[in-house]
Amino acid sequence: MSVWAILVAAGRGERLGTDTPKAFARLGELPLLAEPLRRLDDSEWVDAIVVVAPPGWEEPSILLAEEIGAAKVRAVVPGGETRAASVRAGLAEVPDDAAVVLVHDAARPLLTDEVIERVLAPLGEGWDGAIPGLAVSDTVKRVGVDGGVVETVARDGLWAVQTPQAFPASALRRAVASGADATDCAGLVEAGGGRVKVVAGDPLLLKITTADDLARVASLL
Ligand code: C5P
Repeated sequence: MSVWAILVAAGRGERLGTDTPKAFARLGELPLLAEPLRRLDDSEWVDAIVVVAPPGWEEPSILLAEEIGAAKVRAVVPGGETRAASVRAGLAEVPDDAAVVLVHDAARPLLTDEVIERVLAPLGEGWDGAIPGLAVSDTVKRVGVDGGVVETVARDGLWAVQTPQAFPASALRRAVASGADATDCAGLVEAGGGRVKVVAGDPLLLKITTADDLARVASLL
């Protein structure tokens, strides 16, 4: 069973406030992209990797992959305007005989093999996708633009989901071809009627959005 990983790194990261795209913000000595890329490359579960780079940053991405010795990288392609468009660009590089596709946000650097193993397992049980999630423990409110509370959302059954997200390649291809948009790949699969299972996520798989997130991940490293 061949597992291809698509590492989506084409976001602009405007909320980070750096003059490079988010994937090239510094995390320690290297650009942020290096950390999730090295971890995917080191994973015993991953056979090959497609990097979806910020448009115009394909060459630096290739050089970075070489610098860290990421030998599983098979293609580096420019991303699109939306995350779904970036996933579509990456998926176009995945060969027809790939069995499973794992999509991971470069913005979540602290990826572990345990999480990868957990999302791959349900695919053997007939699920159309598996994603890591954390049950929401805070009280959740919908808030209007004026800062006023619109409603308190019942938190039962609410999960905050993460990446990596795993899919049989055929299920992801169908979902992506539908042209739908969603903030994660599972949303695309669900929109087409696919059954997606949530497995235990990892609190350390935090997503870097702001400079504070970046500093926190740097200290965790
Ligand atoms: O924007 P957001 O934080 O949801 O992005 C999640 C991931 O998707 C990031 O790793 C980002 O680089 C990627 N992305 C992308 N192409 C876009 C938007 C986001 O590859 N157009």
